[in-house]
Amino acid sequence: MLFKENILSWYETHKRILPFRDIQNPYYTWLSEIMLQQTQVDTVIPYFEKWIKTFPTLNDVALASQHDVLKQWEGLGYYSRCRNFHKAAHIVMNEHDGIIPSNYDKFLSLPGVGPYTAAAVMSIAFNKPIPTIDGNIRRVTSRILGRKKMRQNAQARIKNYLQIEIDPLRPGDFNQALMDLGSSICTPTKPKCNQCPVNEICIALGSGNPESYPEKMKKKKSPHYNVAAGLIWDRDKFFIQKRSEKSLLGGLWEFPGGKVEKGESLKMALKREIFEECKIKPTIHRKVGVVKHVFSHFSIEMNLFHCSINGEKPKTDLPSQWIKPNEIAQYPFPAANHKLFKILDQDGWNI
Ligand code: SF4
Repeated sequence: MLFKENILSWYETHKRILPFRDIQNPYYTWLSEIMLQQTQVDTVIPYFEKWIKTFPTLNDVALASQHDVLKQWEGLGYYSRCRNFHKAAHIVMNEHDGIIPSNYDKFLSLPGVGPYTAAAVMSIAFNKPIPTIDGNIRRVTSRILGRKKMRQNAQARIKNYLQIEIDPLRPGDFNQALMDLGSSICTPTKPKCNQCPVNEICIALGSGNPESYPEKMKKKKSPHYNVAAGLIWDRDKFFIQKRSEKSLLGGLWEFPGGKVEKGESLKMALKREIFEECKIKPTIHRKVGVVKHVFSHFSIEMNLFHCSINGEKPKTDLPSQWIKPNEIAQYPFPAANHKLFKILDQDGWNI
């Protein structure tokens, strides 16, 4: 049985129809691979389509401000992807004459590009026989090869196997076929082995328990934080500040506030945080509400309080603005803030 032939002929009839597929445009391929990191295809599609309408070419991305690209990315999460893509667009325009490098090492040196993204773009957009190895492909291959423990030698074996098997004429299709097989047939639980184009050679299937391959890694329990934030009013406007470039959610706007420390009440924490960040002591009024949000490595509960100031003006090193509720759409905010905006829309914006 021929592995690559079977995978490719299965792909011909079962491949997912995606707006960034089968279009020879390295910009589309690169953008889609960045958006797809840690994110489901169904979530990415509308963002991809909206982005391409706003920025039809990589040059349009380079010419846009960081504020504008983050606004387009708003809600997709992992915002460093967007900031890095924006920086990389500048580098391509200024240092590569506007042409996306088709050399693996040059492309890999761009901000936000790791070995997986470089392999995907090189194979799909430039037809280079470089295998991609993500979680799906690692699972499929470990099952075919019957590798249960994902130690370093197993990883190397998978890489070698794919490097030998990849079709030199259709490397992009080969990689995408494995991606699709992993997401639709060779799923983490209940793989549909009877529909699999490579079931005749699969060692894990032969073992009688394919689902047990590869061995699952124990997940660390992620921490949970209680956060207090202030909606600080001055007449009909409230105060927002822009998160530092280097921080998580960098470049997005938020309310002042921060983590509640051990032994602190929400209001004590809020007073301390606002003083540390803005050098003011506002009056804290009623609670707007609380929302939960899960990030990749931790989760938060964000408690928002109405606050007012008595003539003091916030002093912060970060860019800041006083805005009216109807100006929210002009700024990119994290998802947790949007959940709080919904509560304010329902309950009213008054103190
Ligand atoms: S036979 Fe089953 S376990 Fe093996 S690769 Fe196919 S779907 Fe995965």
